[in-house]
Amino acid sequence: MRNTQFTQISRSFVVNIPDASVWRARAQEIRPEGRAFIDGNYVGALSGRTFATVNPATGQVIAQVAECGEEDVNLAVASARKAFESGVWSRRAPAERKAVMLRFAQLMMEHREELALLESLDVGKPVANAYNGDIVSSATCIQWYGEAIDKLYGETAPAAPDMTTMIVREPLGVVAAVVPWNYPLSMASWKLGPALAAGNSVVLKPAEQSPLSAIRIAALAMEAGLPAGVLNVLPGYGETAGRALGLHMDVDAVGFTGSTAVGKLFMQYSGQSNIKRVGLECGGKSPHIVLDDCADLDAAARAVAAGIFGNSGQVCNAGSRLIVQAAVRDELLEKVAAIARELVPGDPLDPATKMGAIVSDVQHASIMSYIDAGRADGARVVAGGRAARPESGGYFIEPTVFDGVNNDMRIAREEIFGPVLSAITVDSPEEAVRVANDTIYGLAAAVWTSNVTRAQQVSRQLKAGVVWVNCFDRGTMSSPFGGFKQSGFGRDKSMHAFDKYMDWKAIWIAG
Ligand code: NAD
Repeated sequence: MRNTQFTQISRSFVVNIPDASVWRARAQEIRPEGRAFIDGNYVGALSGRTFATVNPATGQVIAQVAECGEEDVNLAVASARKAFESGVWSRRAPAERKAVMLRFAQLMMEHREELALLESLDVGKPVANAYNGDIVSSATCIQWYGEAIDKLYGETAPAAPDMTTMIVREPLGVVAAVVPWNYPLSMASWKLGPALAAGNSVVLKPAEQSPLSAIRIAALAMEAGLPAGVLNVLPGYGETAGRALGLHMDVDAVGFTGSTAVGKLFMQYSGQSNIKRVGLECGGKSPHIVLDDCADLDAAARAVAAGIFGNSGQVCNAGSRLIVQAAVRDELLEKVAAIARELVPGDPLDPATKMGAIVSDVQHASIMSYIDAGRADGARVVAGGRAARPESGGYFIEPTVFDGVNNDMRIAREEIFGPVLSAITVDSPEEAVRVANDTIYGLAAAVWTSNVTRAQQVSRQLKAGVVWVNCFDRGTMSSPFGGFKQSGFGRDKSMHAFDKYMDWKAIWIAG
């Protein structure tokens, strides 16, 4: 789900971008919208309450944002329901809905600089990654689902000569999209694309750490022609706004991306309310296996490093466990450590920066406590291991590599969600698979080998929703993304994502 995943589709959009002085000047000037978007209008929370969103690269407040609560959720859901039942979107001709979605995607691209700046300021990610990765991939996602609208066929079933049976797909109604902060616009788009294309109305709740881009695109969607009420955006805290959406009796489905712990809460909310459909994209502890017949250790080392240090390791499918066969361990680890030492965290507004900030002080403290735990458990730091750029006022951490890890240590079992690689040495491909699968998670996995039979066998044995062979983190909109085990269920991206936002209806016509 990282930026590299979109390289195939976004390559043509990678262009020279403004230099650091331009971004810094724009950062001074920008006054982001912080209000909620309900029923086609920007409005404050009914309580009048706001919270601050902070730039993690400087520790400074960017904007005050509406703190929506249950009463705002009720308004947004009522607006979404009214829009849905009116048919203004849900029953509109596919070609017309398609045109609106394509225009929406186009507007996102036209506002690419503004959205990239918001994304970089809000989560501390390198502006070049936001500009060439997140924004392009988000617009591509909306475009892809717009184009899919008139390719969603139903079925007919064999029946007696005096019967016609049609099996049609129908939108569910009101969908709540609850998303995390690591790729705010991409994760929102992965929900909005299929949910809106299917004809639903959506209430989007961005993470409290990163609400700005979601708030901004609501106006772009309206400008593109999306009717009022079809997309509402509610910034607010998980325990209040998120919970109220999960428990709401008139929300038909939740598309959730976030931690496994909160994913479990959404299943409980569903059971406590109206058995709303729940789709979960949760956490991971992905194994990145390098076997001793790997043909290109340099390529593997680059992929291992990119797979854990990209987006400062704040990636659900980060290859956080390097499972390496003993014969190639020393050479591979030296190459990975060398890349880590050269990767210096920097100012996200400088397009030359490859590694940005950690999203918040809380997340920074959590990652540092895992680094302490790794040391205390006897693992050895071979690169990084310290906080970085303290003079910036922001939250940065050096790319960190631990050797001598065993799979029972906390740094091997728990999702750190930071730039921390845990290297585990194994003696055979069989042991590699056993260790790889010894986790509660099953989001993604990778294996490097030059033996095609082994590649085939290992990729089938790995318990993960996505497996890469001799590569890492590749993907396009056409291919599904999602997890096994406690990484969740249901799929984002591809035509399979429609399953989360549509139902099948069988219609029998006599005569
Ligand atoms: P999180 O679970 O804390 O929050 C995700 C969303 O849930 C936010 O909008 C938050 O406000 C809301 N939320 C939090 N507590 C809630 C509650 N009690 N009730 C209702 N809603 C609540 O996750 P995060 O810290 O924002 O993101 C990091 C997590 O997301 C990691 O575990 C990561 O692996 C996961 N993630 C998964 C994928 C994927 O596709 N599988 C992609 C990105 C991130």
